[in-house]
Amino acid sequence: MKIKREEIVVDTLEGIHLYDITEQINQIVKESGIAEGFATINSMHTTTALTINEFESRLMDDVRWFLNKLIPPTDNYLHNDIHLRDCPDDEPENSHSHLASILLGNTESIIVSNGKLQFGKWQSVLFIELDGPRKRTVGVQVMGQ
Ligand code: ZN
Repeated sequence: MKIKREEIVVDTLEGIHLYDITEQINQIVKESGIAEGFATINSMHTTTALTINEFESRLMDDVRWFLNKLIPPTDNYLHNDIHLRDCPDDEPENSHSHLASILLGNTESIIVSNGKLQFGKWQSVLFIELDGPRKRTVGVQVMGQ
C-alpha cells in the first residue's frame, strides 16, 4: 500500500465563500501514482467546512443565504462574549461560523479508481470558507495501490 499526503492552500475572500478544489485533489491523486484506494480530505480549521456537491454560482448564493438564515451572524452567542474569554484582543465574533462548520463537517472521503476521484456527473469537492478572508489549509491523504 502507498500513502501520499499533501496540502492545498486557499486564500479566501470575506464572509462565506465556496471553492471547487476537485482539480487540485485530482492532481495529488495523479502524482501519487495510486490507481485504486481512497482520498481523505481534512480542512484544518474550526470555521471552514468541506462538502461534495454541485459548484454552480446561483446555488453558492443559496448556500450563503441558507446559512445566514439558519445561523444568523447577529444572534446572541456566548462565544462572542470576547471580554469574558481568555483570547487575543483581535478575536472575531464568529460563533455562527463555528456552528456552521460543526453542522457541515470538515472531512470527506472519496473513492479513487482508475487513478481518479470517483464522482457523479455534477459532484465536486467544495471547500467552504465561513469566516474569511483568511489563508486556509486543506490536508489531502491518498492511500491505496
Ligand atoms: Zn471563534
